[in-house]
Amino acid sequence: MRRSPANVRPGAADIVSQAAPDTDLSEGERARILAKAALFAPPPATLADGRRDLVGLTRDELAAEMVAIGEQPFRAKQLWHWIYHQGVTDFSRMPSIAKPMQAKLAERFVVGRPEATTVQTSTDGTRKFLFRYRDGQEVETVYIPSPDEDRGAVCISTQVGCTLSCKFCHTGTQKLVRNLGAAEIVGQFMAARDSYGEWPSPKDGTARHLSNIVVMGMGEPLYNYENTAKAMRIVMDNEGIALSRRRITLSTSGVVPMMDRCGAELNVNLAVSLHAVTNELRNEIVPLNRKYPIEELMAACRRYPGASNARRITFEYVMLRGVNDSPAEAHELVRLLKGLPAKVNLIPFNPWPGSPYKTSTGEAVRAFAEILEAGGYSSPVRRPRGRDISAACGQLKTESERVRRVKADAA
Ligand code: SAH
Ligand code: SF4
Repeated sequence: MRRSPANVRPGAADIVSQAAPDTDLSEGERARILAKAALFAPPPATLADGRRDLVGLTRDELAAEMVAIGEQPFRAKQLWHWIYHQGVTDFSRMPSIAKPMQAKLAERFVVGRPEATTVQTSTDGTRKFLFRYRDGQEVETVYIPSPDEDRGAVCISTQVGCTLSCKFCHTGTQKLVRNLGAAEIVGQFMAARDSYGEWPSPKDGTARHLSNIVVMGMGEPLYNYENTAKAMRIVMDNEGIALSRRRITLSTSGVVPMMDRCGAELNVNLAVSLHAVTNELRNEIVPLNRKYPIEELMAACRRYPGASNARRITFEYVMLRGVNDSPAEAHELVRLLKGLPAKVNLIPFNPWPGSPYKTSTGEAVRAFAEILEAGGYSSPVRRPRGRDISAACGQLKTESERVRRVKADAA
């Protein structure tokens, strides 16, 4: 059923956008979100034999581990270089560390990677990894090379499943099993780099194949904020992987109180999964909207630091045939975005088995895009990549689940 944008109160977004958030309320809300995230904490980063994974520790934590085994804290700097700049996983291949020390480290620690249980490469070059962690949980990560340039984005996951249940998203059908730890998040990027042999980390100004990170895989990153933030800080550290914050885009379905914190602390690029211009429709397809309605979401976007023409907020809009793709909705979107440095990413809906929607027609997408462009908003249509390997947005883990079901049926 088509919804009319008429029930958005005229000017409501503009009025709310000028109001500062109630700091105490937001603080309480943030504390609740973090407490809930802790209930889904990942298992400790320790192997069955007691050795600890050094990946995912902050520099200070790494130094503390060295002190705990009677070593100087400066060892942390050396290790950081080997782990995150050189990409070395074997202590015996760290020549600046003396042999006895290498042996001592190997007795107590590992430099871990998630295990890639399946790697598939699409005819368009997209590569999808199914990664398994120590407790057997799995997520998918996708590398999307740029078709005409020497660069590409790694789309990483932050949760196994998702507590939210956006109606068009396959991950939304999988209940949240647990959050990923910092090591498990940064490990996806490092393992993808292993797959392309892109170590040591290329210096500033040198081309990188794996040049960008989009936090757009499985899960809601702002419902696993601490681990995601820790992983991003590691990735951005200048003496390691050294990816600029401008090359990282975090996508949220609109966890308003955490958007403020993300902006203040990480200040990476922000993408917001909008998908509807009325609260009535958004309540239905992005149920989180019932908690944080469009006006509050837009106000949080306006507060996001550094929003400028050079660094626009991306609004993601999945095109669902006959549901959210009318010209009237495009006009309403232009109105909602007024004054905000933004671009709109139109995502043709990627179907999955049992999904309740159809992809908008090419004509509807074009007409929608034209209205946005006329309103001053660049609105690229995201080309589905890796469809042949079910690597497109919202399809992650559909295939691995199907294979598991078939195997279970056969058993
Ligand atoms: N949880 C975060 C990030 C992961 S989803 C979020 O919702 O933003 C990444 C993007 O893919 C989101 O914009 C999401 O709405 C979109 N998406 C999900 N399922 C999709 C599908 N089946 N087809 C197209 N895009 C989809
Ligand atoms: Fe979760 Fe994002 Fe999928 Fe919504 S679109 S169910 S928030 S992963």
